[in-house]
Amino acid sequence: MKIKDFNFAGKKAIVRVDFNVPLDENGVITDDTRIRGALPTLKHILEGGGSLIIMSHMGKPKGKVNAKMSLGQIREAVAKALGVPVQFADDCAKAKPQADALKAGEVLLLENLRFYPEEEGKPVGIEKEDPAYEQAKKEMKARQKEFAKTLASYADCYVNDAFGTAHRKHASTAVIADYFDADHKMLGFLMEKEVEAVDNILKNIRRPFTAIMGGSKVSTKIGIIENLMDKVDNLILCGGMTYTFARALGGHVGNSICEEDKLDLALNIIAQAKAKGVNLVLGTDCVAGDSFSNDAHQQVVPANAVPEGWEGMDAGPESRKAFAAAIDGAKTILWNGPAGVFEFDNFTAGSRAIAEAIAKATDEGAYSLIGGGDSVACINKFGLADRVSYISTGGGALLEAIEGKILPGVAAIGE
Ligand code: AMP
Repeated sequence: MKIKDFNFAGKKAIVRVDFNVPLDENGVITDDTRIRGALPTLKHILEGGGSLIIMSHMGKPKGKVNAKMSLGQIREAVAKALGVPVQFADDCAKAKPQADALKAGEVLLLENLRFYPEEEGKPVGIEKEDPAYEQAKKEMKARQKEFAKTLASYADCYVNDAFGTAHRKHASTAVIADYFDADHKMLGFLMEKEVEAVDNILKNIRRPFTAIMGGSKVSTKIGIIENLMDKVDNLILCGGMTYTFARALGGHVGNSICEEDKLDLALNIIAQAKAKGVNLVLGTDCVAGDSFSNDAHQQVVPANAVPEGWEGMDAGPESRKAFAAAIDGAKTILWNGPAGVFEFDNFTAGSRAIAEAIAKATDEGAYSLIGGGDSVACINKFGLADRVSYISTGGGALLEAIEGKILPGVAAIGE
């Protein structure tokens, strides 16, 4: 079912959102992006005459009640954002009477789902190596189903709008969907947008397609690189990865971050790109520093000849030009991971060059998707967030989707 086609009048909707917002030591929200992200869905349901049961996790309480991670702390903020009072159920598994009493237009926020180990469905207090683990896992899976069934019993329909946890098969993100038929379960607007964004770069590709992968290590990006290899025209690999490639090709990288045990993998990526006709763009020069700090002395050196005692911390001018050239004229662009240690203001030039090239290509009609943690921080730092097509809200979920994995939270809705 599509959310825009569902008639919420007189219906209770249980909505999984990602309200895992950062709080300061006084429990005050420091960034409310996630609450704002869910508003279109929540307001749509209320405006359609429905009532809301909102559920989320916060932090990692590991199946135990923990006041520091209580969603009660954000009740007022949610009420303010929605413009209506919000009731609170301080035990998410015993909220049936409160849910039953909800009238159209009313809102009930459930306490942190992860206060119950059933939410994640992993046995607690037992190691994987323990012979009794398999049995404990089976029992926990049965309890997870019961927990999901209880949550489902609160409402007439289920909406999943929590992209941040869509890669998890938890009670509230996937298992609960088994208790609703296809006409009574749906993705929220945020989820729909995220799924469409991933489709734009994996399925509905307009060419040329340039993917830019940066960050610190090849090993954490290999799944994505391999999935993209069959799809992209240009593949820019930058950031800390540069030096694993330079080393694999026989270069000297000084103190640069380098995965010595991934040299074969790097060579294999180069060979794959050649075999598949992908234009692989690697950094040829870098801005090296003599210590890992913002105030380090700098020099521009070839990425494969970094002097001893120095480390490559940003892309050099020649590399920046090559990156921009591979982005210029692209019609589909994906960016994950910075081109340098962008947290240090003196080492942002590489990431900035990429962000600016993406903004320019987007102005000229490209579809650009930015996602997966640090690249989002980058684009915000450079003030260019408004000049790209879409910024994903889901770190791990986006990365798994780009790896080509089916997200349980999306699959459970069955679209
Ligand atoms: P990731 O989580 O793998 O996307 O990596 C992001 C991190 O990579 C950021 O914190 C950057 O500071 C870091 N990074 C990027 N380039 C380099 C580099 N040349 N040396 C060390 N760290 C880097």
